[in-house]
Amino acid sequence: MRNEGLINRYRDYMPVSDDTRIVTLSEGSTPLIPAYNLSKAIHPKLEIWLKYEGLNPTGSFKDRGMTMAITKAVEEGYKAVMCASTGNTSASAAAYAARAGIRCAVLIPEGKIALGKLSQAMIHGAKVIQIRGNFDEALTQVRKICEHNPIALVNSVNPFRIEGQKSGAFEIVDDFEGVAPDFQAMPVGNAGNISAYWKGYTEYHAAGKSKNRPVMLGFQAAGSAPIVLGHPVEQPQTFATAIRIGNPASWKTAEAARDESGGLIDMVTDDEIRAAYQKLAATEGVFCEPASASGVAGLIKLSAAGYFDDKTPAHSDKIRVTCILTGHGLKDPDSAIASAEETVTVDNDEAKILDAIGLEAVVA
Ligand SMILES: *Cc1c(COP(=O)(O)O)cnc(C)c1O
Repeated sequence: MRNEGLINRYRDYMPVSDDTRIVTLSEGSTPLIPAYNLSKAIHPKLEIWLKYEGLNPTGSFKDRGMTMAITKAVEEGYKAVMCASTGNTSASAAAYAARAGIRCAVLIPEGKIALGKLSQAMIHGAKVIQIRGNFDEALTQVRKICEHNPIALVNSVNPFRIEGQKSGAFEIVDDFEGVAPDFQAMPVGNAGNISAYWKGYTEYHAAGKSKNRPVMLGFQAAGSAPIVLGHPVEQPQTFATAIRIGNPASWKTAEAARDESGGLIDMVTDDEIRAAYQKLAATEGVFCEPASASGVAGLIKLSAAGYFDDKTPAHSDKIRVTCILTGHGLKDPDSAIASAEETVTVDNDEAKILDAIGLEAVVA
């Protein structure tokens, strides 16, 4: 069946009417991939599934919120939208605004945007403005501008973004035929996505579509971990630029998701994120961007600390965990190249090439 986008797929749960003109790029319905190798490597009891959100049209889960936010902005008569972004929101906003035929302006922290994301916002025709400041400062500025001008704010403080993003939870439950996973691990930046997933799981549970709700496990980068520390971080640092956020807009709802689910929000170091990022690519064939790997990094950390040892799975002999891989690895090729083994250059000569491959060691 053709993918008509997540608003059409989950229309009963979305704030649209029969007259709403849907702005869609056929987002959503992303694959849920079993991670056999990772599961085995991390904990014998775990059954890990990867929700590969990098396969959305602009390469990140932001498209789930953006189809809804741009649809509503158009419905409400806006001719322009604006956002602050660590990169993926701007890429998504630019694409959906282009599709809707409205204007888009994005504010990004200077020099901190992965190249793929910047190129997307530019080629889709957004007005891209780099500010000398971080994401949190950019968001404060955009909120002020949108308050005083006829421009729709499409950051995740826009409640329609959350409505669209909650569809990720519906898809997971539908893929598992009416059961939610035991746990869900995911990155936490501005904290909209963890809030949205919890809303989705809760709505589906209330509607009788899901037997249960998962325990939510959120992970911030250690240099940008305001929720873990309990206070805003003035100068957030991490190579996982998508979660380089010091004062999350959805702080309260993320804590509610954590507490109502009996979960936790913890932090992982850049080294732990990088190791998980490499492992996903090298042992599962799944390439996500650095921030996306923080959920897997968190699972490795928790597992090593014995977190899963006394947990009993609800539905089988395995503890089922979904990891939300929020963005595609191609967004940030620089991080991939910096995290992998260097290429080698040799003469175009069979013996030398075999020597460089180390073939004897490989086939022996
Ligand atoms: C936006 C983003 C996040 C963080 O999501 P929040 O809703 O801000 O917590 C994580 N990973 C990627 C790839 C993102 O684009």
